[in-house]
Amino acid sequence: MSASPSVVDSPALEARSVEKWYGEVCALAGVSLGVAKGECVALVGESGSGKTTLLRTFNRMVEPDGGEVWVGGRAARELDPIQLRRDTGYVPQDGGLMPHWDVLRNAAMVPWLLGLPEAEELAREALDQVGLPADRFGQRWPRELSGGQRQRVAIARAIAARPRIILLDEPFGALDAITRAEVRAHFAELRAELGVTSVLVTHDLHEALELSDRMAVLQHGQIEQVAPPRELIQHPATPYVAELLARAGLGNTTGGGSS
Ligand code: ADP
Ligand code: MG
Repeated sequence: MSASPSVVDSPALEARSVEKWYGEVCALAGVSLGVAKGECVALVGESGSGKTTLLRTFNRMVEPDGGEVWVGGRAARELDPIQLRRDTGYVPQDGGLMPHWDVLRNAAMVPWLLGLPEAEELAREALDQVGLPADRFGQRWPRELSGGQRQRVAIARAIAARPRIILLDEPFGALDAITRAEVRAHFAELRAELGVTSVLVTHDLHEALELSDRMAVLQHGQIEQVAPPRELIQHPATPYVAELLARAGLGNTTGGGSS
């Protein structure tokens, strides 16, 4: 293998019949899913359906027990995990900021771990991109930020090393409705700006509808349907998908509703 500057020459993700077991518990029961370059795919489904597990197979935080994960046209298990982490920014469910590090240091964490000499510069740029300029916010502690600002720092940290893929695990889940709308809007702009490939885990179908190009519905570690949001709403492939949509008030009732 040649030492290329990036492992992800053609940033796209693919799960091929991926299985994952935790003892007797089957978390992923043969999942196949492709994510095209620049695309945002939302993983939706109830708690325990396997969303986080699938997300983490893409950066090798979870190693599949069966099947294969491909990143940028290469088998993930053949990629250097460090290089892979560089190319795939990750926003964990709770944001995962270091409480005793200031904002700038948090944002610089990934480039710093990667030993990039320009770590601080990259962190400053990323903080600008999420609307939290380092001059104003860099010296604050995470606890001195609002929940929405903290999540934006977590996103800044994930994009600071300029990954071509970002994996987000319910990044807006803990926020109140108004903050959430704000951070979502930021994310949508950012994605357009960076043209990054992304996988967004959410249990909020409205969020998936707003932010993703395609939605993948998981249930019991299996994919029920993958489709663009409009198509999914109009043509749910299974009774379960129809039920999930109905529960979110997105059912395909003729006549349509408002709000
Ligand atoms: P989701 O993100 O959709 O809530 P997860 O991927 O976290 O689902 O979990 C899928 C299934 O795997 C669940 O039944 C969960 O309890 C189980 N699971 C996940 N991680 C672990 C783990 N580290 N050890 C044991 N079981 C796990
Ligand atoms: Mg989860």
